[in-house]
Amino acid sequence: MTNIFKYIGKSVINPEKRGYVSLTNRWRTFKWFLNEGHVLAHAWDRFKWYNCPRFFVVPNYPCHLELEASAACQMKCPMCAQGKMFEKGLVLGNLNMDLFKRTIDEIHDKVYSIKLSWRGEPSLNPHLHDMIRYAKLEKKMKSVAFLTNFELYDEAMIDDLLTTGVDYVSISFDGMKEVYEKIRHPAKFEETIEKVKYLKKKRDELGLKTPNIRVQSIFSAIQDNPQEYFDLWEPIADKVNYISDQWRASLDPKDYDLDPDYVCPTPFNRMAVGWDGKVFLCKSDYSEGVVLGDLNKETVHKIWHNKKFGALRDAMKNGTRLKFFSPCMFCTDGARAESGDYISVDGRKLPVRINAGRKVKAKELDGSTNRWKRGKRKKSTAA
Ligand code: SF4
Repeated sequence: MTNIFKYIGKSVINPEKRGYVSLTNRWRTFKWFLNEGHVLAHAWDRFKWYNCPRFFVVPNYPCHLELEASAACQMKCPMCAQGKMFEKGLVLGNLNMDLFKRTIDEIHDKVYSIKLSWRGEPSLNPHLHDMIRYAKLEKKMKSVAFLTNFELYDEAMIDDLLTTGVDYVSISFDGMKEVYEKIRHPAKFEETIEKVKYLKKKRDELGLKTPNIRVQSIFSAIQDNPQEYFDLWEPIADKVNYISDQWRASLDPKDYDLDPDYVCPTPFNRMAVGWDGKVFLCKSDYSEGVVLGDLNKETVHKIWHNKKFGALRDAMKNGTRLKFFSPCMFCTDGARAESGDYISVDGRKLPVRINAGRKVKAKELDGSTNRWKRGKRKKSTAA
């Protein structure tokens, strides 16, 4: 019986956070979950999220869509994929309202969640708040959120944001003072803190449960004093996270120790849509390496079930992703992890894992990339 409860627990709560670690304690994390409401639908969504990839089940629709409101950004953060996008000469535009509405009309009662961000800064799209209002207030989508550097927000914009019904806002805030201002130039440390405080104060004054507010930093920006970062944000934000950016930045991608048998869950639970409606391989395909469809011409459902998506899923089943899909060759998701050090925040021990690339002297591989590995490989059908 205990094992059944453990299994159910692990099925709805991420058992293996590879790159994202919450500094916030479990009770506050649970409160966040309750704040979003529709608890059963949320739990069912999490169940599908973790179990469809595990059993190679393709749900009728993805659980989640990244719908990129803008691919552009006013910042040039050193760890960001924007540099590679510029190198490739990609056009970085804004999602238009017609395409957005058509997509929401199709998915609002079939897809659990959308994020209006992916590679760029969504608040550069002047229609961002109208898009959220349409999805949340008119079409009653369960979960609508976005990630932002929050630099362009002023009090009037924050007041307007609070009328949209957005479920959560994730604010990228890397490090303290000089470190923050260096990475997130031209944003100012105190100004951004004041804006987030204003968002929380107005939300609470209005008696709103949402938006939940998450603040997150790359780990390398807070590694010298994670407690200081936590102490700053814990009273203001509902959740404080760090991203293990060693996964991304400590090695040249060609040195990642990629596990050929890794089964990436992405093609079984989510879809990444660029600002122009093109559907790409996944949320890690920042440089638009593989196009799986185009929402200007086809529906979400049709693309989700097309041959290209099928070939990607086959490659995961057959262990051939590194042969057929170039973005997977440069992706840390399928790289072996080293059991790294721990940090201590508020007396809690939190993991810091680093990529066990060939240049790194691996201590002990934790085998985490094998989590999804199962069964015998069939002969490849991916093309
Ligand atoms: S690039 Fe490949 S391994 Fe990485 S997230 Fe995308 S599908 Fe998964």
